[in-house]
Parts: sequence; structure tokens; C-alpha cells
Amino acid sequence: MPLINDCVFCKIIKGEIPSSKVYEDDLVLAFLDIAPFNYGHTLIIPKDHQTSITTLDEIYANRMIAIAPKIGTTMMRVLGAEGFNLFLNNGTVAGQTVWHCHMHVLPRFTEDKVIISSEPLKYESKDQMAEIAQKAFDKLNK
Ligand code: AMP
Ligand code: ZN
Repeated sequence: MPLINDCVFCKIIKGEIPSSKVYEDDLVLAFLDIAPFNYGHTLIIPKDHQTSITTLDEIYANRMIAIAPKIGTTMMRVLGAEGFNLFLNNGTVAGQTVWHCHMHVLPRFTEDKVIISSEPLKYESKDQMAEIAQKAFDKLNK
């Protein structure tokens, strides 16, 4: 289980800096985000230093996705949240700031101030849409 010394989340795993832990098993750790968008905002991390979900062993990724809805529903009960968002920022352009892969579990409340929105685009044509899908399909279903 390679952890690295200058990574804040590896330090949390090693207990070198404190965290508000909400879940732990042999593969993953979950703790409250220190700068939450809502109360109960939780981060799930693999106990392996991987910067990106793309290089993370599936055994860790599978456990992260398995535990995420359990944390979400538990936060609904604990805080009276009405739902939750799951998201993972992968890469600078996607907003990743901590280079140890992590999934966000964000409890949602009707009157909260969270904004997750974007102006929807339109494909230029049905052909363009079909071409994008086909290219991805061919790579993913080899
Ligand atoms: P991201 O933008 O997806 O890389 O998210 C990184 C998250 O890590 C941010 O929401 C930070 O508030 C959170 N964070 C950074 N350091 C800590 C820490 N020591 N304990 C808890 N959360 C942290
Ligand atoms: Zn790390």
C-alpha cells in the first residue's frame, strides 16, 4: 500500500494529521471535508496513493463506489438531508486540487446554496453526436 510523505491525504491515512472520520475499512477511508459545501460533505479516499481514478486499482474504485451511497443515505438520516451528489474531480481542468484520488459525497438540502449547473450545449447535428458515441463505443467495447 504505497503512501507518500508530502500528500495531505496520505498523512490523514497514517494518522499524522487529524480528520473527522466517518468510515474506514481495509481499502478506503472517509472523512468530512474541511471546507464543506454543506454540512456532512464527505471525502472517500483509497488507502493507496494514486493521483487519478484512471490509475487506481479497480478493487479500490469498486469499494469507493460501493460505500458512497451508504455514506450519502447515512448523512440524510444524520442531518435530515433530502438527497446527495456524488462527484469526483479528475485533473486540474475538472477542479482537482488534492492529488490523491477522492470522491465527494455532498448531502443536499432544498434551500442550500450549492450551485451545480452549466448552460447546456447542443450538438451541431445528429451525425456529430452519433460519431462521438461511435468513436467512444469502439474504444470501450473492443
Ligand atoms: P478537489 O477539489 O476535488 O481536489 O477537492 C479537494 C477537497 O479536499 C477540498 O474540498 C478541500 O476542502 C478538501 N481538503 C483539503 N485538505 C483537507 C483536510 N486536511 N481535511 C479534509 N478535507 C481537506
Ligand atoms: Zn496520497
